[in-house]
Amino acid sequence: MSTAILSALPEEQSSLVQHLAQPQRLMHAGRAFWRGELHGRPVVLALSGIGKVAAATTATALIERFNVARIVFTGVAGGVGDGVHRGDVVVAQDYVQHDMDASPLFPRWELPGYARTRLACDPVLTALLLEAARACVAGGSGQFGLKSAAGQARHRVHHGLVASGDRFVSAAAESQQLRAALQGAGHDVLAVEMEGAAVAQVCHDYGVPFAAVRTISDRADDTAHGDFALFVQTVASRYAEHMVQTLLRML
Ligand code: SAH
Repeated sequence: MSTAILSALPEEQSSLVQHLAQPQRLMHAGRAFWRGELHGRPVVLALSGIGKVAAATTATALIERFNVARIVFTGVAGGVGDGVHRGDVVVAQDYVQHDMDASPLFPRWELPGYARTRLACDPVLTALLLEAARACVAGGSGQFGLKSAAGQARHRVHHGLVASGDRFVSAAAESQQLRAALQGAGHDVLAVEMEGAAVAQVCHDYGVPFAAVRTISDRADDTAHGDFALFVQTVASRYAEHMVQTLLRML
């Protein structure tokens, strides 16, 4: 059975497609899926699309149509936790939907019908992804054309809670508010993006292992849009390729 590698943006996927052996492109649900082998392992590459609904549809198709054994998400995210800088890598431990709010029927952020707020990623697959991310960051410092933030010796790998929602967070005030509100309820968020929690929920429903890694492209602040665009063009795809390659060798 194949491993699905899910990317949010074409820029993040491009170098994976270039390295695919026996590539086969299939259209399904208005999306392109690439079947083939990466480093000797059967894979299906797909774009999640942007936002939770698009990502949930892609994840469902990967499971129902392509019968994948596990889903690994690689993408970029805005850093919101202290010390989570551009170029750092966040491996998700679990996910929260920061825009889920069915209060007063359910506590804010709780997923109705799931009796919980956070959905955990698969611990075994996540431990491998964490190892792959650490190996890449340790070996790749300075290789990716991005200087570390001032005063920071090298890029770091973080592991913890990631928040998803249907918003590109691009104002410092919004990012601080989002983080403080969740922190007040005991949810310490490292990074924000737009798809992971949806894929985590689909994988939870089907019992399919899920792991996610996000490289920090911006700080979800007032310069987020420019930082994001530059990062995606220059760094994201090479980061994704290195981490996926290292992970697949471990499987
Ligand atoms: N491709 C579009 C916009 C992409 S939206 C463009 O042309 O600009 C941003 C993507 O990166 C989403 O897939 C999201 O998961 C992630 N992301 C990066 N920084 C983010 C932030 N600050 N807030 C929310 N999502 C972010």
